[in-house]
Amino acid sequence: MTAPVFRFAPSPNGHLHLGHAYSALLNLRMARAMKGRLLLRMEDIDRERCTPELDQAMLEDLHWIGLDWELPVRRQSEHFAVYSEALDKLIGMDLVYPAFLSRGDIKREIEKSAGGKDNWPRDPDGTLLYPNADRQLSQRERDRRIGEGRLFSWRLNMDRAVELLRVPLSWTEFAPEHTVLARPQDWGDIIIARRDMPTSYHLSVVIDDALQGITHVVRGRDLLHATSVHRLLQHLLGIEPPLYHHHTLILDRDGQKLAKSRKDTSLRDLREQGKTRQDIFDQVGL
Ligand code: GLU
Repeated sequence: MTAPVFRFAPSPNGHLHLGHAYSALLNLRMARAMKGRLLLRMEDIDRERCTPELDQAMLEDLHWIGLDWELPVRRQSEHFAVYSEALDKLIGMDLVYPAFLSRGDIKREIEKSAGGKDNWPRDPDGTLLYPNADRQLSQRERDRRIGEGRLFSWRLNMDRAVELLRVPLSWTEFAPEHTVLARPQDWGDIIIARRDMPTSYHLSVVIDDALQGITHVVRGRDLLHATSVHRLLQHLLGIEPPLYHHHTLILDRDGQKLAKSRKDTSLRDLREQGKTRQDIFDQVGL
């Protein structure tokens, strides 16, 4: 049997905080317990928010807490061509369509609908679902708009994608082991490729976990529902799913999820305050 492969996959768009430390160290602990490998991936497709300085700072913080990963580090920004290929596959399957509505357009569309915003369905993260009128556009109209230079993202036609499923999708949580039924339909027509790039978080995470041979995905419970989308994309692209563990989140004193914008729990600040690696382990309960 080949060794299990884990990964820690932060986005270098801010500084790491205690929540990241917990996730990274839990990956390390589980990888060691199972005599597995640990890889590091920088999810830096957002070229505006992710900077080389933040990337470097993350590496320093991860070294400081004692994370030990195999080289090389995979940086998603170096692999757009691979994601583009997967996008082309979905275009070829007629499962994605160019979506032209801007954020403002979406808001207006929803407000003018019968029940307005209050009755409009939301995804598991609380975001209003995309009004999918663009699905109906003729190829001619699509070409005309694209020819005019109108910006668009690629969205999944969720109804069509779900129709392709012959059996309900599920995934395995491995700690403790149980099966979770996937509900991708709750997300509506998700973005597969953002306006300025041939990919999105959902598409690249699925491709990279497969290309890096990840067998065990350990990440926060805030991503539990997103796994439904990942299972669907894996199915559509013919990818074997890894096992998952969605761990509890480290919350602040008010019970809120930690944010990269908060200074009091950033690993940098804690280090500057004179805290030690052991203090971090104690604080996250590992
Ligand atoms: N890059 C994502 C984040 O920092 C995590 C992705 C994942 O673990 O699947 O929130």
